[in-house]
Amino acid sequence: MKSIILILLLLVTNNHVTKEGIADYVNQNKDKIVKEFETSINDRIYSYNIIVDDLSLYQDYDSMEAGRFYPENEIIITDELKYVNYEYHKNVTDLIYVNLNKYVKAVVIHELMHLYLYQLIDDLLLDNYSIHYDYIASVKNLGKHDYIDNNISNNASINLYGASFIEEGICEYIVCKMKQSICDNTKYKYSVDYIKQNQNTYEIKYIYSRMFLQDFLNQQGLKQGLLIILSNAPPTYIEMANPELYYSRL
Ligand SMILES: [Zn+2]
Repeated sequence: MKSIILILLLLVTNNHVTKEGIADYVNQNKDKIVKEFETSINDRIYSYNIIVDDLSLYQDYDSMEAGRFYPENEIIITDELKYVNYEYHKNVTDLIYVNLNKYVKAVVIHELMHLYLYQLIDDLLLDNYSIHYDYIASVKNLGKHDYIDNNISNNASINLYGASFIEEGICEYIVCKMKQSICDNTKYKYSVDYIKQNQNTYEIKYIYSRMFLQDFLNQQGLKQGLLIILSNAPPTYIEMANPELYYSRL
């Protein structure tokens, strides 16, 4: 009986995340997390600056967000109390949190992938590799006016939603590959109408997008998969609903 009580107590206290705890966790673990990330992607991060702050006080705050990346190397992790725990540990309470799970470490890894994509695209452009402009605009957080500034003539093909769908999917892909979150691998099928609806944006961009990419990135390997994806136009709504259409043109 004593051991049962002890285990229950551990589970309860384990979920007790505090503002100070978030700051301490990030400051004490960030270098270690970056190393784990680098091992997982088999590449390196040139530079990073990871800080903790209250993102709800920032401009364009979205209640679903827990981290932000600012070019070129800054990551902000929010210290709002919206986490299940500091790190993901497989335990009996898992099922309750499916798809609403937030772990401090998982958020750091998600944002590190944004940083890595930014760095990778810069490297590829320096090597004169052809990157589709929608990805440059999405990863660098550029607006539609930048297409004009950069002499991108075919404005009709601007597809920032498709690019950010892929970008967020890649970030979630690595979180799941590193086993840092609860990852539901059910293959859902969505209609174009469902994908387009605003209230489904989170589900589509942060959950479905990973499943959309997972098999391809597993087969190709991360780096090679990214090279193929980034050099082609991002998926249209019809292709998001029908992955086989998208992958058949890559
Ligand atoms: Zn993101």
